[in-house]
Amino acid sequence: MPLIELKNVIKSYAEPEQQNAVPVLRGISLSIEPGESLAITGPSGCGKSTLLNVMGTLDEPDEGEVIFEGESLSGASAKRLSALRSQKIGFIFQLHHLLPQCTVLENVLVPTLAVKGGPNREARAKELLEIVGLSHRATWRPAQLSGGERQRVAVVRALINEPRLILADEPTGSLDEANAAALTDLLIDLQKKTGVTLVLVTHQRAQAEHMGRVLQIHEGRIA
Ligand code: ADP
Repeated sequence: MPLIELKNVIKSYAEPEQQNAVPVLRGISLSIEPGESLAITGPSGCGKSTLLNVMGTLDEPDEGEVIFEGESLSGASAKRLSALRSQKIGFIFQLHHLLPQCTVLENVLVPTLAVKGGPNREARAKELLEIVGLSHRATWRPAQLSGGERQRVAVVRALINEPRLILADEPTGSLDEANAAALTDLLIDLQKKTGVTLVLVTHQRAQAEHMGRVLQIHEGRIA
């Protein structure tokens, strides 16, 4: 069974002060198997983030269907989608979105607050921080970290609930070349080690080539 399937997904946004909605996704169908790594590439504005947001149930298609582990999400309640996101999906964005007042360890544990009675999350958090080379920063605050370190914390936060799917939207977009390459290597390494499914939006060809499959988006369609 595919982990996630999209069937003819269409999505438009209404432009302010315009009558007609502008189509962003114009009929996207795709199927992603568990454990796959997939890059989504294409020019700026072609719909990559919108596609990722639809996969992550942060945005709803106007038409078409999203099926997650065999469950159609059409008409699913906000509560159901929220539970699905917190249990099954880890998000990494271009900006880290860490809470400035919380320590690294506290930030990593934030997603566990939404999931009842998991195993020892703090031990897992420390283990993951060790893997990404940040165990010595557990009590530090985001402002005390470098950009690359903050994104590594965001990676750990995305993995903390043992999701089935990681959705990463230009996660290296705010980093210099060396840190970007290191973060991509880390993501791919973690994907291989844990078997989590990874979908990465990137406009860097070198990053995309490290992924198992590359999907080109052009004007809201798969090219
Ligand atoms: P990409 O990630 O490929 O750069 P996006 O998916 O972010 O592309 O955006 C595709 C198009 O949809 C753009 O023209 C953008 O302006 C528009 N768009 C994205 N999100 C919104 C929104 N929330 N409201 C209105 N328009 C949006």
